[in-house]
Amino acid sequence: MSENCIFCKIIAGEIPSEKIYQDDTVTAFRDIHPVAPTHVLIVPNKHIASVNDLTEEDEQITGRMLTIAQKLAVQEGIGGNGYRLIVNTGPHGGQVVFHLHLHLIGGQKMRHPMG
Ligand code: 5GP
Ligand code: ZN
Repeated sequence: MSENCIFCKIIAGEIPSEKIYQDDTVTAFRDIHPVAPTHVLIVPNKHIASVNDLTEEDEQITGRMLTIAQKLAVQEGIGGNGYRLIVNTGPHGGQVVFHLHLHLIGGQKMRHPMG
C-alpha cells in the first residue's frame, strides 16, 4: 500500500466505493464519474503506479485484470454487445490517478474514436 494513494485506500476499505469484485490480486469498483452506463475500474491490489512501472513479475496480475474484466462485463450484461477497455498512461495518456487501473466501459455504443 502506498500512502496518499486514493485507490490503495479504496482497496483497503478506508475510502468508500461501490466495490463489485475483490480477490487476493485485484479489486473492481464503479467509477465515481461514469462516462457510460457501465464504468468499472479494475485495479491490482498491489500498488503499481502505471504501465510504465510494470515488470515481468507482474504478468500474473495484469493477466488477471483482463480475465476479471471479461467476467465483470458478462456480469454487467455487456459481454455480448461489447465494451471498451482502456489503460490511460502518463500525462499524454490522460492518466490522473497513479495507481494502475483498467477502465471497463460499456452499455452504449462508443461515440468517440480513439485518440
Ligand atoms: P484516469 O484518468 O487516471 O485513467 O482515471 C481515473 C478515474 O478514477 C477517473 O475516471 C475518475 O472518475 C476515477 N476516480 C477518481 N477518484 C475516484 C474515487 O475516489 N472513487 C472512484 N470510485 N473513482 C474515482
Ligand atoms: Zn495505490
